[in-house]
Amino acid sequence: MDYSVIIPIYNEEENIQLLYDRLQEVMTGLQSETEYIFINDGSADASIQLIKGLSAQNKHVKYIDFSRNFGHQIAVSAGLDKCAGNRVVIIDADLQDPPELILEMAKKMDEGYEVVYAQRRSRKGESFFKKITASGFYKILRSITSIDIPLNTGDFRMMDKRIVEVLREMPEKNKFLRGQISWIGFRQTFVEFDRAERNAGETGYPLKKMLRFAIDGITAFSDAPLKFVFSMGIVVFILTFFLILYTLISWLFFENTVQGWSSIMISVLFIGGVQMIGIGIIGEYISRIGNNVKERPLYIIRESNIEEENN
Ligand code: UDP
Ligand code: MG
Repeated sequence: MDYSVIIPIYNEEENIQLLYDRLQEVMTGLQSETEYIFINDGSADASIQLIKGLSAQNKHVKYIDFSRNFGHQIAVSAGLDKCAGNRVVIIDADLQDPPELILEMAKKMDEGYEVVYAQRRSRKGESFFKKITASGFYKILRSITSIDIPLNTGDFRMMDKRIVEVLREMPEKNKFLRGQISWIGFRQTFVEFDRAERNAGETGYPLKKMLRFAIDGITAFSDAPLKFVFSMGIVVFILTFFLILYTLISWLFFENTVQGWSSIMISVLFIGGVQMIGIGIIGEYISRIGNNVKERPLYIIRESNIEEENN
């Protein structure tokens, strides 16, 4: 198999046919053998029926049907686990990632690169809030991690089989694939594109999922939040030291010991707040350690037409 195209699907019934047509046209242009792996991530619509329909027409259309919604990163990971191509493409199903860009990516691969990611020159149909939070998040992430996660990229990319093999060996449960792929290294480059609006349907990434994804990214690649808690502790300790000094001096020399209810309240609440933030941040890390220790499977497959020997 020359190419594997991995497509995570969450309620995309209106996009599947158009996506498949456009993909097929592109892949025919590459004149190589391509498998399409659709991962149905617990869709509530007719997505899986459509995918099965495609697989009945074309034996290179594979599907993995999850037992429930496990999330985008896990759906892509399942595709990475089962794909057989020498080059692997990850693409969104909603046509925000133009399939035609795959041709440009393939050219870069021919030049000897091992990862070609797609960088957004512009993005349409996304709220001001999403753009501003996303760019803020990636700037923070870059400044607190030592790996070079490129700005303005999603998971749309082409990579060599070797990178996929490394990814399969990375057992972490809280996946942040774009960070993992940067971390792996090899020769990486990018092609630019203008991100279109979602063709049809609704985003599968509401604010809550976005937040969880952001925290996954930070906790997987940085200890900075933990160090931040530590420095907050130091700052509060120093402030408290001066407060103690002040209290003692005013008690010993000025005998005004009754006043100061507000300063006590403020310092108690302040320290309480700092402690709770600290415990919360530590909790985020511990819950992720817990997830990895449980050794539950990353996903559960209800049905698939991929034979095991394919791996
Ligand atoms: N997706 C998924 N599981 C989810 C959410 C999304 O497999 O829980 C898929 C979705 O079908 C699409 C891709 O991941 O192919 C990107 O999702 P979406 O377009 O909703 O995200 P956005 O572009 O709004 O960030
Ligand atoms: Mg989208």
